[in-house]
Amino acid sequence: MEYNLTDEQRAIRDEVRRFAENEIAPVASEYDESETYPYEIVQKAAEMGLTGAHFPVEYGGVGYTSLENALVTEELFAVDPGIGLCITSAGFGAEAIINFGTDEQKERFLPPIVDGESVMGAAISEPQAGSDVTSVRTSAEKDGDEWVINGNKMWITNGSVGDYFVVLCQTDPDADDRYSGFSQIIVEADRDGFSAEKITGKMGIRASDTAELIFDDVRVPESNLVGTRGMGFLQLMQFFDETRTSVAAQAVGIAKGACEQALEYAEEREQFGRSIGEFQAIQHKLAEMHTATEAARQLTYKSAWSVDNDEGQLTALASMAKEFASDVATDVTDEAVQIHGGAGFVNDHDVERLYRDAKITQIYEGTSEIQKNVIARELLDKGI
Ligand SMILES: Cc1cc2nc3c(=O)[nH]c(=O)nc-3n(C[C@H](O)[C@H](O)[C@H](O)COP(=O)(O)OP(=O)(O)OC[C@H]3O[C@@H](n4cnc5c(N)ncnc54)[C@H](O)[C@@H]3O)c2cc1C
Repeated sequence: MEYNLTDEQRAIRDEVRRFAENEIAPVASEYDESETYPYEIVQKAAEMGLTGAHFPVEYGGVGYTSLENALVTEELFAVDPGIGLCITSAGFGAEAIINFGTDEQKERFLPPIVDGESVMGAAISEPQAGSDVTSVRTSAEKDGDEWVINGNKMWITNGSVGDYFVVLCQTDPDADDRYSGFSQIIVEADRDGFSAEKITGKMGIRASDTAELIFDDVRVPESNLVGTRGMGFLQLMQFFDETRTSVAAQAVGIAKGACEQALEYAEEREQFGRSIGEFQAIQHKLAEMHTATEAARQLTYKSAWSVDNDEGQLTALASMAKEFASDVATDVTDEAVQIHGGAGFVNDHDVERLYRDAKITQIYEGTSEIQKNVIARELLDKGI
């Protein structure tokens, strides 16, 4: 086992952290409050190669491994999860195109994300179809050489700022089994019949754009189908192995940020004539927070390593990492607020924002309950 990061990986981590401290930290709370999408910061991140960091080099990406991608995510989220998500999710859904798309699709849809000219999204969830993806009802019917799409997608990240979306559609409602009736189809936001309504009032990650998408007889060419018709659900399962690992890295980053803030505050805040960090109760909190964060980090890095070197355990590892790290993020941010006392309850301190932001990691890309179902299924079916 090799635990050390390479010099290059350390350099990536340090450079991204510097970027986050300089460009994001000063404005994070402003974007959170106004719930606005940080176009300029995403553009600057694109110039550093961060919007397509894991895209293949031939399509303009940096070609980072999943571990390197996790390092980038961790540092951005340690500073601000809302803007961090805008950067790391600029190409959300592109994994399907990278893994299953045609050369023409890759050439057309990947480079604009890397250049910061376009943003995309993955549209899976619907008002009535959340955890149960097989209940997706957005339909795509063939008419000549076009797909005609009808339905609604809910909670879509980048929904009202995105230029195109990989949309999970029901293409074969009469398929033999409950998994084979779905296909992924790319829909451009400027197609007739497409509209998006921004969802406001989120508890956390408020700089990130979330919207409901409406498809009203939207026509796209046959060539927008990603991969094989009827394989959309199975393609998604592979997508989740990668993206759940990324959410785990988001959670580790949030916990890391909270640990740093809590340590700093414990050293400077004085009560009873000494710094609160001298009280054993606070020391134990700090010790537990750092230990839990490190444990979550190791599990996440192993999952990230498995994305690149799959030895058959990835599905379970990705779910374990997400489920564990998201619990750590919510617990650690809770303790960080506690260490700040009353000061942690208002938005003068970043821990207030991190506390709100942490919650989403237990919900999106499959809730914690669903992750446990996946882990148990892998255990029972494959005996991992
Ligand atoms: C800010 C935000 C961004 C998002 N971004 C995207 C996106 O970009 N693309 C996208 O497609 N979706 C996105 N989502 C949707 C997200 O993935 C879903 O919210 C999530 O999968 C849960 O679905 P649901 O909200 O319908 O909850 P439900 O499925 O209704 O679940 C409600 C509760 O029941 C529990 N539950 C459900 N089924 C089971 C079961 N079998 N066993 C045990 N417990 C169960 C859940 O764990 C949860 O506690 C986003 C959501 C949010 C809030």
